[in-house]
Amino acid sequence: PVVTRFAPSPTGFLHIGGGRTALFNWLYARHTGGKMLLRIEDTDRERSTEAAIGAIIDGLKWLGLDWEGETVFQFARAPRHREVVEEMLAAGKAYRCYCTPAELDAMREKARAEGRSPRYDGTWRDRDPSEAPPGVKPAIRIKAPLEGETVIEDQVQGRVVIPNKDLDDLVLLRSDGNPTYMLSVVVDDHDMGVTHIIRGDDHLTNAARQMIIYAAMGWDVPIMAHIPLIHGPDGAKLSKRHGALGVDAYRAMGYLPEAMRNYLVRLGWGHGDEEIMSTEQMVEWFDIIDVGRSASRFDFAKLESLNGHYIRTMDDARLLALFIETLPHLPGGSVMAELLDQAKIAQLAMALPGLKERAKTLVELKDGAAFIFAIRPLVPDEKAAAILDADARALLGRLHELLSETAWTIEATEAAVKAFAEAEGLKLGKVAQPLRAALTGRSTSPGIFDVLMTLGREESLGRIADQAV
Ligand code: GLU
Repeated sequence: PVVTRFAPSPTGFLHIGGGRTALFNWLYARHTGGKMLLRIEDTDRERSTEAAIGAIIDGLKWLGLDWEGETVFQFARAPRHREVVEEMLAAGKAYRCYCTPAELDAMREKARAEGRSPRYDGTWRDRDPSEAPPGVKPAIRIKAPLEGETVIEDQVQGRVVIPNKDLDDLVLLRSDGNPTYMLSVVVDDHDMGVTHIIRGDDHLTNAARQMIIYAAMGWDVPIMAHIPLIHGPDGAKLSKRHGALGVDAYRAMGYLPEAMRNYLVRLGWGHGDEEIMSTEQMVEWFDIIDVGRSASRFDFAKLESLNGHYIRTMDDARLLALFIETLPHLPGGSVMAELLDQAKIAQLAMALPGLKERAKTLVELKDGAAFIFAIRPLVPDEKAAAILDADARALLGRLHELLSETAWTIEATEAAVKAFAEAEGLKLGKVAQPLRAALTGRSTSPGIFDVLMTLGREESLGRIADQAV
């Protein structure tokens, strides 16, 4: 059975490219009836943080991408990595290198001067360790093949051939006894039983080096799929350094996990012309072999319109739950989240069908719902204040009188306001405008009768009275 893994380095957020890599791994595992594992590659002790681990796990959960079994932490497996190096030494597949940092620097300098890429020159490959200078702690290097070529039959990139003379004897264990990243990845993938490595194509050159380690150990090489990176709208590379593009940033911008998954899956993969796909359809259709070879561009406008589609078509109960869950993450949302009680939730539920027609993101939904959380007396915004002139306030006074005697149903209030407008010789809009300004403090809102019902009789009449003369 297929075993994939997502192997983020916890040096920052789960960025959007990482989210897509995780999604592809997850989908491929689902599609094949296999499983996805999670490995946190925390070997860079200086840059790995607990906060980043939390953010990555949080981001995966938010995207709805679950993994099988315990999370593997790479650093904790260092003893096992050292054990493998011992095996390689014993089998003559690796050797101790006693070069000093100064010697290695000189080697790099020389290569640079000769216009070659800096490579280890194999000084200690066949040299007798008894010649080692005293006091120098050795690094352990792999004995890489000098001739021939390393071939990667990549599921996405196709056949990639790297002449072995371009791959030097890479370090497996540093002189301080720490395993290198290259070694750790291979040992972990092998021990975890990974059958498919799906990751960004920035790892393609690593893949060739990793294959040499597999060969030295006589291990089966997993099937590899190096997926093209996501580029920014300007064509520049998206990277971890684009902190604003962490998955958590998308949540704070009000995108739904459903829309995010749908958007991300189409960055580099597609199924005919299908724009909108349910997760079940993605699982059914996704295959790693169909991932394209060219970089895709991130397009906010597309994401936004997709998100709007999901907001409009999503089941109201799920949308409400998602909104409540996301509210504390939205700008200015934590204040609202604190005010949220059963009554407010009921009001939200009532207003939702009207609100979701107008919102492309949860941030817009939140802005539309702000009237529910407003506290009397409302402070109208600039446009609403302009609507509430002396005439409008007088009009609201008369309307207040009428509505006080009206039954509180959508039909009755609608009939009353229409009759009122007629009696005043005004178009309905001329009444609705000041009414809206009084009820919401804004010049735009969901349908005015929906607002009346959502706020209820007492609150509505109170807000009208506050602005009336
Ligand atoms: N930890 C690596 C990264 O975050 C991924 C390594 C891999 O997938 O093999 O880019």
